[in-house]
Amino acid sequence: MRTKQFKAESKRLLEMMINSIYTHKEIFLRELISNASDAMDKLYFKSMSENTGITRSDMAIRIEADKDARTLTITDNGIGMTKEELENNLGTIAKSGSLAFKTENEKTEDVNIIGQFGVGFYSAFMVAKKVTVISKAYGSEEAFMWQSEGVDGYTIEEANKASYGTQIILEIKDNADEENYDEFLTPFKIKSLIRKYSDYIRYPILMDAEHEKLKEGTENEYEKEIVTETLNSMTPIWKKSKNEITDEEYNGFYKDKYYDYDAPLSHIHTRTEGTATYTALMYIPAKAPYDYYSKNYEKGLTLYSSGVMIMEKCADLLPDYFGFVRGLVDSEDLSLNISREMLQHDRQLKLIAKSLEKSIKNELKKMQKNDREKYEKFFDAFGMQIKYGIYESFGANKENLQELLMFKSSFGGYTTLEEYVSRMKDEQKYIYFASGSSIARIEALPQTEMVKDKGYEILYFTDHVDEFTVQMMHDFNGKEFRSVSADDLGLENDAEKEEIKKTEEDNKEMFDFMTEKLGEKVKAVKLSQRLKTHPVCITSEGMLSVEMEKVLSAMPGENAGMAKAQKILEINASHPIFAKLKSLYTTDKDAVAEYADILYTQALLIEGMPIENPVEFTNKLCEIMAK
Ligand code: ADP
Repeated sequence: MRTKQFKAESKRLLEMMINSIYTHKEIFLRELISNASDAMDKLYFKSMSENTGITRSDMAIRIEADKDARTLTITDNGIGMTKEELENNLGTIAKSGSLAFKTENEKTEDVNIIGQFGVGFYSAFMVAKKVTVISKAYGSEEAFMWQSEGVDGYTIEEANKASYGTQIILEIKDNADEENYDEFLTPFKIKSLIRKYSDYIRYPILMDAEHEKLKEGTENEYEKEIVTETLNSMTPIWKKSKNEITDEEYNGFYKDKYYDYDAPLSHIHTRTEGTATYTALMYIPAKAPYDYYSKNYEKGLTLYSSGVMIMEKCADLLPDYFGFVRGLVDSEDLSLNISREMLQHDRQLKLIAKSLEKSIKNELKKMQKNDREKYEKFFDAFGMQIKYGIYESFGANKENLQELLMFKSSFGGYTTLEEYVSRMKDEQKYIYFASGSSIARIEALPQTEMVKDKGYEILYFTDHVDEFTVQMMHDFNGKEFRSVSADDLGLENDAEKEEIKKTEEDNKEMFDFMTEKLGEKVKAVKLSQRLKTHPVCITSEGMLSVEMEKVLSAMPGENAGMAKAQKILEINASHPIFAKLKSLYTTDKDAVAEYADILYTQALLIEGMPIENPVEFTNKLCEIMAK
């Protein structure tokens, strides 16, 4: 019998497979089962048009492992192959033009090509030293056997096979140093591989299992019994129609698949046809996984191509800000053998990702509107991610995400920005916010006094990222954000402004003196427009607030502590301390300098900022008390 040579391309691919150091060799089984399933699909379609009487229920894939002979056999009753087809399909890499052999470096190429995806039939050579294919095409009288031990070529000869279909016999390699090939002959491994990769193949995957059973009529005599087991569950939950699936089933699937104790907050089950055809089943978890806000967390959805898993976590399907979503996408538009690099540039995949993003956002909006309690739970777990989504994109994702934002506010509880704006007073210019480490602290801030007095609502910013986020947003529907510590609060009318200006001018000399004495610590000492009863507070001018300074200085890195807010020490003109300062200024300027320092330190304390010299501060205070 003549040994035929593989085509050059096929030979190279084969070489790679045989010498593969790839760790996911196990995908060979998925590839062979998918081929079998395709062959049965083909026969099924043929039988529909030709009325052969064959139905889907006649079709199955059988698996047999023989430990002693070291063979793993996969048999299908699909369309089979003629001699020419065996020659053309297995002697050449069929249509797999997708494999562009372009790089020079074989080693990296190896990994890249096999990647997560495998390359069809030849992947059998990752685990087998010899592959035999016996096939009989449907409607043909003859059967043929194709055999190969790898790169040296293959043979084709006549064979005996009773019925149509294909049988693939793999002679499994011997165990090597670091490779355990034996396991591919064990029922346990085979079962788990099928559950992992081929659970949703539409045809039953059958394997005989030996069980011990009590011999009838005896009490302790056992006999062996062969039971045929179906290893796959066939219909994936997402392929069923929505009204066939109960919430329990949805949640059960989620808990099993993602090892989560808590039921998800909601699920999104969509089927889309058109520019991108896919089915998706996604879940919004109730809690963030423990590693969610760390670098270890990997976002992504499982990607299936017609029920066959091709990638466990496809990150490109989810934007970072929706990285908490778990689930899967099944699309007929994607080829099984697409490589990871190609997938990244796949137009279809991009369309799917865009469309998924919309579904997720709609689901969240719906939840926000219809089930506020649930949405607040969601926001507690993942709100930070939404805020980061806006901040990290420098506001580019603002339009997309701003409606999803919520903040606690002086109105009580969480509010959306839309709700805040709907409650704004006619003359109110800004969306006010105040920052602090806790709501109790924020509520006690002197800076909030005037704003509250006007009856304006204040957003409470307790997350570090909050202020950075709204700074990136600049405004919401035209309403600008304004910190209660900002230099211009826009609270006074013209007459009030005039009066403040006048008092400030009258006391300019003293304020300048205090500013000078405080030196680097402050940019200026000013008359406060926001205090009513409290004596002093610190505010800031410019982009960087005192709160932001705190966050930045707590961050690691050599620039930590470099960013400083331009601080203003504000003094309340209607507080007795102001009158005291004024009188001292005419009699004892040194005392005014001392007082300025103490007032400044007190304002720092109110802000929760560290003070440079607590001992000096306490001593000074005691000196005054003792006077
Ligand atoms: P692909 O499946 O991507 O086309 P493969 O290398 O896996 O590439 O298979 C090459 C071809 O061999 C298939 O397209 C199919 O025509 C044929 N083939 C493989 N396995 C079978 C089978 N079990 N039954 C019938 N034809 C098969």
